[in-house]
Formats: sequence, structure tokens, C-alpha cells
Amino acid sequence: MTNPRILLEHYEIVPKKSLGQNFLHDPNALEKIATIAEIMPQDTVLEIGPGTGALTEVLAQRARHVIAVEVDTRLQPLLEARLGVYDNVVLMFADILETDVLKLVGSKPFSVVANLPYYITSAILRHLLENYRRPQKLVLTVQEEVAQRLVARPDDMSLLTVSVQFYGKARIAMKLNPAVFWPRPDVDSAVVVIETYDRPSINVPSSEAFFKVVRAGFSQKRKQLKNALGSGLGLSHEAAAGLLERAGIDPRRRAETVTLEEWAALTRVVG
Ligand code: SAM
Repeated sequence: MTNPRILLEHYEIVPKKSLGQNFLHDPNALEKIATIAEIMPQDTVLEIGPGTGALTEVLAQRARHVIAVEVDTRLQPLLEARLGVYDNVVLMFADILETDVLKLVGSKPFSVVANLPYYITSAILRHLLENYRRPQKLVLTVQEEVAQRLVARPDDMSLLTVSVQFYGKARIAMKLNPAVFWPRPDVDSAVVVIETYDRPSINVPSSEAFFKVVRAGFSQKRKQLKNALGSGLGLSHEAAAGLLERAGIDPRRRAETVTLEEWAALTRVVG
């Protein structure tokens, strides 16, 4: 019995929209996600939100260790019954955003594979990427619109795009139709792969200094950079324009057009 609808009915659990509970029930999609993740027998995988355990089971058959963190304790009896046969799976019932991921995974390299609860996608990305030790790879099912933002190019960048591309290379590996989930979500989904860099790909004094500048640049949507940067950093627009010019960036441009290298140059000028 692996169909999430039947399984949940059996345990008298009604999916909660507020927890982003759309369960993957298509075996092909589950297999494809595991293939995209290129899991090796020695790998440690962190799964966020195992739900009914469908993806967890596929991961358990391929990885050395699977650590699955689920916030909804109603799922505990179901998950323990389904995954009890796998001695390489550790289940933890907690909010991922309140969890010290590095303590959980130990000192070994690890990857993250998850069909994310869409309401906290950005918060989870920050929680995982802003750690001093990051997953080597993240294979994440997200809302397609968010996937497009993660892989966006200059002209279409957002604070989320810059944040993710600062830490790694992102690509869309597959799109998923709402029909592969139960209950069906209102939006299309996509599987994104983020391969993190060992070292930052750009030269900045610190990630804090970089993000201070980038956040200031994006602080006022659709405004020219000199205005947004000035307000964000508490400078006059003239002073901000001077900094931008020294970094080789036209002060009239908008934040969504700026490349990572240009943000880095600006960070170095701001000091
Ligand atoms: N992995 C399952 C699948 O593919 O069918 C379920 C995916 S469902 C989109 C998201 C899961 O994340 C749900 O099981 C939900 O309860 C869980 N979840 C929601 N918020 C969470 C949080 N803050 N921490 C951990 N799990 C969370």
C-alpha cells in the first residue's frame, strides 16, 4: 500500500495545505528524482519533509544514510511502519528551520533531496546555504515559478537568484505536472539541482559584506540602482551613484540586470 491517498485514509490523516502537503505518488517521477540526484551507495542524504515516505524509501534503497526531518507528528506512525525495515533511515520529527542540520548529518559530506513545502522554500534555502558547511548538492522539487527564479539570468535576477547563485550552480532538471501529486497543487512544479561551490565563485571580502550590498540594491523594486542603493545603505543618491560608477556600473540600471561579478565589484568598492 503506497498510494498516499489510501495510506493517509488508513491512518485517518487529512493533508494540511498550511504545511504544503502535496504528496508525490508517481513512481516514475520518484525514480527520476533519485536518478537526477545521482546518489551513490556511500552517500548521506538529508530529506526535508518525508510526508508519507515515498521519496524516503527510494532514497533508502540507494544511499548509505538517509536522515528525514518531518514537522507533522501525525505522520509518525505511518512513517515508522513504512520505513522500519530500513536500518539506514533516521526519522526526526521537528521543524527543519529550527534544526541544526550540521549536528544531524555529522562531519561527512551530504546532499539534500526534497520535495519542499512550497510556503517556506526561500527560508529553507537560506537555512541550508548560509551554513558554514553546505550540502554538496541539493535536488529540490519546487514551484516552477520559483525554479525559474533560481536559474534566472541578468535582466531577470532577484535577491533569491543572487543568493542561490552566490553559493552554487543551479539548473532545472525536470518539470512536473500537478497530476503527479496528491492532492493536486494549483501550480506546476520543477526539480532544480543546485551544485554548491567549494569556494565562492566571486571575489568578495566576506559574504556578509556582499549580501549587505545586494540587499540594499534590491531594497526598492523597479527603482534605479543609485536610488535603491542609496536608501539601502543610508547614503545620498549622489554618493551611491559615485560608488556604482567606480564599480563600472551605470547608476541608472536596475538591480535585476546586475551580474554576480558586478555585485562583487560593487562590494569591493563599498569596502
Ligand atoms: N516528501 C513527500 C513527497 O514527496 O510526497 C512529501 C512532500 S510535501 C510537498 C512537504 C512535506 O514537508 C510535508 O510532509 C510537510 O508536512 C513537511 N513540512 C512542512 N513544513 C515543514 C518544516 N518546517 N519542517 C519539516 N517538514 C516540513
